[in-house]
Amino acid sequence: MQKKLSKLSPVPYEDDEEPSSPRYDISICKAGTTGCSHAVINPQNISDKIKELLDESGLGNHISAIDKKKLLYHKKFRVALAACPNSCPQPQIKDFGVSGQAVPVATDEPCSECMQCVDVCKEEGAVCVKDAIPIFNYKICVYCGDCEKICPTGSITNERVGMRVMAGGRLGRHPRLAMIMDDMADEGTLLEILRDILDKYIKGLPPFKPRRK
Ligand code: SF4
Ligand code: SF4
Ligand code: SF4
Repeated sequence: MQKKLSKLSPVPYEDDEEPSSPRYDISICKAGTTGCSHAVINPQNISDKIKELLDESGLGNHISAIDKKKLLYHKKFRVALAACPNSCPQPQIKDFGVSGQAVPVATDEPCSECMQCVDVCKEEGAVCVKDAIPIFNYKICVYCGDCEKICPTGSITNERVGMRVMAGGRLGRHPRLAMIMDDMADEGTLLEILRDILDKYIKGLPPFKPRRK
């Protein structure tokens, strides 16, 4: 016979943490540790700056004041840093997320029409080659930088490298994808956005209201 929900004993989260554990969590894709051939930014450098800002912000004290006992997994402020749009650590479902971006453009170097850029691109129609010139459709391109990496003649370069900045993503009872706060952001802009989000988060203001309220 099926048990009534109210009779089920609560199952403790395996990852409940002691009060002394950090009130935030930063996951970095493997580009920041073992390296990854897809990386267009170095997430480790950004991680250090983000950690500094989180420590200064008063976020830890704010969360500790509410959660005096063990900290449940879902109550931490979660950050994910991905070095390319493949977004392995899932920045789209974190409180704050970043993924690297690179905008490809043609250079003056002669193209051999090897078509490797077209073959490597996973977004159909994002790049084609006409009269020995690579042409990009920026409505389709996701700025992964793979075509620049594979081009053997230097006929493609990254005009700009930056970051997509996302915030407010979550799973749980009311899941939602993070909002895109900026594209091609530099480090200064990213930290400015994070500072603003932390301020709202600590004050409990929408749309970055902490999930425990
Ligand atoms: S997010 Fe990109 S760079 Fe990072 S591990 Fe995944 S594929 Fe590699
Ligand atoms: S940057 Fe990536 S998505 Fe854009 S054209 Fe090059 S390979 Fe395709
Ligand atoms: S742009 Fe580079 S990869 Fe693309 S066809 Fe020309 S030489 Fe090959």
